[in-house]
Amino acid sequence: MAVLEIRKEGDPVLRQRAKPVDRVTKRTQRLIRDMADTMYAADGIGLAAPQVGVSERVIVVDIGDGLMAVVNPRIVYASGTAVDVEGCLSIPGLRGYVERAETVHVEGLDEKGRPWRVEASGLLARVFQHEIDHLDGILFTDKATGLHYVVRAADDDEDHADGEGGADHDAEGEPVSAAGGEERDRVREGERA
Ligand code: ZN
Repeated sequence: MAVLEIRKEGDPVLRQRAKPVDRVTKRTQRLIRDMADTMYAADGIGLAAPQVGVSERVIVVDIGDGLMAVVNPRIVYASGTAVDVEGCLSIPGLRGYVERAETVHVEGLDEKGRPWRVEASGLLARVFQHEIDHLDGILFTDKATGLHYVVRAADDDEDHADGEGGADHDAEGEPVSAAGGEERDRVREGERA
């Protein structure tokens, strides 16, 4: 278990195309555990390996329904469009509106190297798209409109209900505007993905 340093915008690793994982090994599993620890410590809802300096195609996601770790994730189906607010753990404090597919089907391998698949909509679909973009060196700011900084509370660890109007969101990909009170509780200012 280890909380790793989250690389920030400007770090070249965030702009590299991450390489596929040939085989899921103990090292991969350790990476997944460390990424999960790092994501939770940052109050994020998603994290991609390049964000911890590892240019490999591994992501972790947890929007509150449990941890999903996916190796070599790829979108095999996408439909609809939705626009919502996103932020990113690698770009603290910045938010913007990003158009994404409303529904995606994602395939890859789980932490044991077994075939894995999910059909996701809404926030979950958004987070997957945000994280998979990271694997291709793409940041949400490349696609966003209405980029703006949010004021960071002095210690926003626990609640930052800033709600005014809905543009607060937090981590990677997460649209606060769509989040109800509960969700928002976990979505803090930081960033999420
Ligand atoms: Zn991100």
